[in-house]
Amino acid sequence: MRAVVAIGANLDEPKAAVELAIELLKQATELVAASSLHTTKPVGGPAQPDYVNAVCILESDLPAVELLHLLQGIEKSMGRVREEKWGPRIIDLDLISYGTLLSQDIDLTLPHPFAHQRRFVLEPWLEIDPDAHLLTHGLVAEILVQLPPA
Ligand code: ATP
Ligand code: CA
Ligand code: CA
Repeated sequence: MRAVVAIGANLDEPKAAVELAIELLKQATELVAASSLHTTKPVGGPAQPDYVNAVCILESDLPAVELLHLLQGIEKSMGRVREEKWGPRIIDLDLISYGTLLSQDIDLTLPHPFAHQRRFVLEPWLEIDPDAHLLTHGLVAEILVQLPPA
């Protein structure tokens, strides 16, 4: 199934961190496409450095929970530690959608509950898939034109 993964980082060397996360995803899964790196202003949380964001599309046969664990394993291997909600982080990998799965589980909500509000997810996603479509909210291109300006 096709998975959409959003990556973000804003500590130390965020570009290098996002590039390394993409490389690790490539080694662990079948990477279909990776966006360019987007520099974005933090949304929510404390005052903190700008983010570097990217989105990857990959193909996987793993059960959703195992794919999430794979993403969390990459975060851990890159030195992510527990931190403040929405605070700065060395790397963050979120599963935005996985095939047509719908889930309300707090540990794995699909599609990701905030994806439709986040330019830093939707813009890189649209870059690699002009037909990108969020199960719960429709075409990404149309969601983006309705979001308030950055
Ligand atoms: P946000 O989810 O608003 O982007 P965050 O990425 O900072 O916030 P984390 O601290 O990385 O939040 O993750 C908190 C929890 O979110 C994790 O324990 C994970 O199980 C859960 N979670 C639920 N749905 C998802 C999803 N689609 N992708 C990644 N994590 C998820
Ligand atoms: Ca996140
Ligand atoms: Ca996360």
